[in-house]
Amino acid sequence: MQVAEVILPLPLDKLFHYAIPADMVGSVCPGVRILVQFGARKEYAAIVTRVLEAPDETELKYLISVLDEHPVVLEHQLLQWSWMASYYMAPVGDVMNAALPPGLKLSSQSIVVLDPEVVPDESSMSDALFRLYDALRNHPKLTLDEVREFCQVKQPMPLVQKALEEGWALLEEELKKVARAKRRKLVRLSPESLANLDGAFEASKRSTAQTEALLALVAHCGSENNFQDKRGFQKKQNITSAALLALIKKGIIEEVEEIDGTTAASAPMTEITLSAPQLEALTSIQKGFEAKKPVVLHGVTASGKTELYITLIKEAFTKHKRVLYLLPEIALTTQLISRLRIHFTVAVSHSKFSPAERLAAWREALTNDGPLLVLGARSAVFMPLPDLGLIIVDEEHESSFKQYEPSPRYNARDTAVWMSNSRDCPVVLGSATPSLESMFNARQGRYELAQLHKRFHTAPLPELEVVDMLGAKQRREVQGNFSIELVDAMRHTLSKGESVILFQNRRGFSTFQQCQTCGHIEGCTRCDISLTFHKGPQKLKCHYCGYTVPPVMKCSSCGGESVLHKGFGTEQIAEEAAALFPNASVKRMDLDTTRGKHAFGDLIRAVENGEVDILVGTQMVTKGLDFDRVGLVGIMSADNLLSYPDFRANERAFQLIEQVAGRTGRRTSKGKVVIQAMKPRHSIIQLALNHDFSGMQAKELTIRQEYQYPPFVRLITITLKHRDQKLLQRAAGEFARSLRSKIGDRFLGPEFAPIARLKNLYQMQIIVKVDKGNIGAKVRERIKKSHQEVLLTPDFNRVKVVFDVDPNA
Ligand code: ADP
Ligand code: ZN
Repeated sequence: MQVAEVILPLPLDKLFHYAIPADMVGSVCPGVRILVQFGARKEYAAIVTRVLEAPDETELKYLISVLDEHPVVLEHQLLQWSWMASYYMAPVGDVMNAALPPGLKLSSQSIVVLDPEVVPDESSMSDALFRLYDALRNHPKLTLDEVREFCQVKQPMPLVQKALEEGWALLEEELKKVARAKRRKLVRLSPESLANLDGAFEASKRSTAQTEALLALVAHCGSENNFQDKRGFQKKQNITSAALLALIKKGIIEEVEEIDGTTAASAPMTEITLSAPQLEALTSIQKGFEAKKPVVLHGVTASGKTELYITLIKEAFTKHKRVLYLLPEIALTTQLISRLRIHFTVAVSHSKFSPAERLAAWREALTNDGPLLVLGARSAVFMPLPDLGLIIVDEEHESSFKQYEPSPRYNARDTAVWMSNSRDCPVVLGSATPSLESMFNARQGRYELAQLHKRFHTAPLPELEVVDMLGAKQRREVQGNFSIELVDAMRHTLSKGESVILFQNRRGFSTFQQCQTCGHIEGCTRCDISLTFHKGPQKLKCHYCGYTVPPVMKCSSCGGESVLHKGFGTEQIAEEAAALFPNASVKRMDLDTTRGKHAFGDLIRAVENGEVDILVGTQMVTKGLDFDRVGLVGIMSADNLLSYPDFRANERAFQLIEQVAGRTGRRTSKGKVVIQAMKPRHSIIQLALNHDFSGMQAKELTIRQEYQYPPFVRLITITLKHRDQKLLQRAAGEFARSLRSKIGDRFLGPEFAPIARLKNLYQMQIIVKVDKGNIGAKVRERIKKSHQEVLLTPDFNRVKVVFDVDPNA
């Protein structure tokens, strides 16, 4: 009897087996989905990992049906899932759930809905599909059982799958998640037909519809041959889709897609000749490739790292290889996508894309056998990548490469390094401020180092200035949260017609409300954290759980009537900036202002177009934005950055200051950065003032070595959570005892987490320090053993346990 070994899309740390009915034997192979029953009556699409032979008398459930003709997951992906599950101590079902695009995650609990933004082509639908479409128009939500009934099919899943692939249906759970980019199609005459209009008319003369369409377009685009909105043009001129499509196919009309306001065509194509330093860096990179070592590309902002990536991608493409390009979500801008689309076929894996588009990107990566650039944020490591020839990790130091919630808690950069090794393909880790870990690896000779010390254009690195805010306040040289120095610099920059970025890493108006009588700070009722005041909506909000109350007039503890707002966030800075510069246009960029569907793109476009004079924002303003006209960056409070309870706080503060500084003076003129700080002599601020990256690294390395933190050891954080504080403490105590008997004293804790209570759950932490070398696997085994022996017992099995391998903080 043949048996399929499968992964179920459930948080279960094992594989399951189903018997294959004789008539399906040939169609089951690794990587296809099969429908199986699990639990009393639930059905899931499981991924086959292997087909095995078992004795005929083995008692197993039979699989119900085979969902795919061809594998939707490749062998190398299955291998990677299994490595990730074991390294990151996550159930393999969690890894599968993280990996698969929504369109491949059907189960019997799935609820199907219509995508409100897609108008399907009814005429091309099969009868069964049309019945499904019709049913969905009358009943907005359908369970699979209902689909079975309405469409009169035995197996609803393949039908629904088809609808998902066509893109007009999606799963209900996805509907809420999609934050779409604003996209539309544009058309104009292709440059070739513009140069040879007679030829173009000749080629379309046999169809009146096409000739008319062409005439209309010539009239519309004008002498500058401007792009026209395709749908609008078609409607206004009453032109059929067929005529337009025929002209596009003949190459007479050029069609491009605009995403969030930018198109590939709007970026000029420039031929690049690498400069001498760039060529030198390229040689180092290739040396690393030959030695099969990961390469760290340390290049200051605007030194040409992206141009080097483009060179490397071209090279990989000459060998028909796939390329994976990873970067933080927030740096995944249309600017960069456009820049790359000029050169390459790009499949973008983007959380802003609809489920159908993400499914299409997956299929493209699976089946396209030419050169393909797969571009995406951390989850792009899950894309199918046959024939992988190069991996680029840009901004490799970014903490957002690490996923925390939900499991698997993986780091995409480290996964990329693992992939490079397992797939035998080169990897480049690029950054203006590479992580201590990567630089350490380079210094130890495990990684190769390539460097670019200068910006490509003559623009010098920006000038940094620090302002002592304590002194300024004592001398009363402040206006609200602004020092005189910052206000002067702003005035100067604005007068030159350049714009200003103000960075503050807290959103909201003030960060807490405190009673002047008893000192009580208004806190969240569910978390041990203060509430942030948002002035616009007049609310106190918990940024961890979303708990919201109206601001208090009286202290909720003693009833005192003098309650002050303390600390400041972006909302307050924006308000003050607008008051200081009433003629300037001030915009705010943080989670609160970019929640809307197109808000982020609209804001970026406004800044690019020079419609924003002062942009106030959180971390969001520091990453990846490539604005030409930023002359000044103000860091409103550097102390905030240095006060996180995080062994990487200093390194991150330095990186952040460098990063925001990189936003200024990118092209020609010299930019300026004003750093406001209560402790201006803090060593990290002093090092940042001198752009002293290696000084910072040397200093931090000494500290990390002394206190035994990465890169000298690996960390595994184990967090235990429960409502009942006493029970949690007992559980943590016993767990620690068990752990001690297995791994000795190589851990800290248990202690309460920095936020001791979150969403009503108390949290205790144990931090395991694993020596470098190959003992990691053994330690993970022992931790799991203790977990089983102590926490899966009736006393404690309600305690929630979270393993975080190589945690961010
Ligand atoms: P980074 O990725 O390091 O921030 P970029 O690759 O974006 O730097 O380069 C900064 C700017 O300089 C870009 O506009 C880029 O096109 C330009 N540039 C870099 N190298 C060259 C080159 N060799 N020739 C012409 N322009 C270049
Ligand atoms: Zn809360």
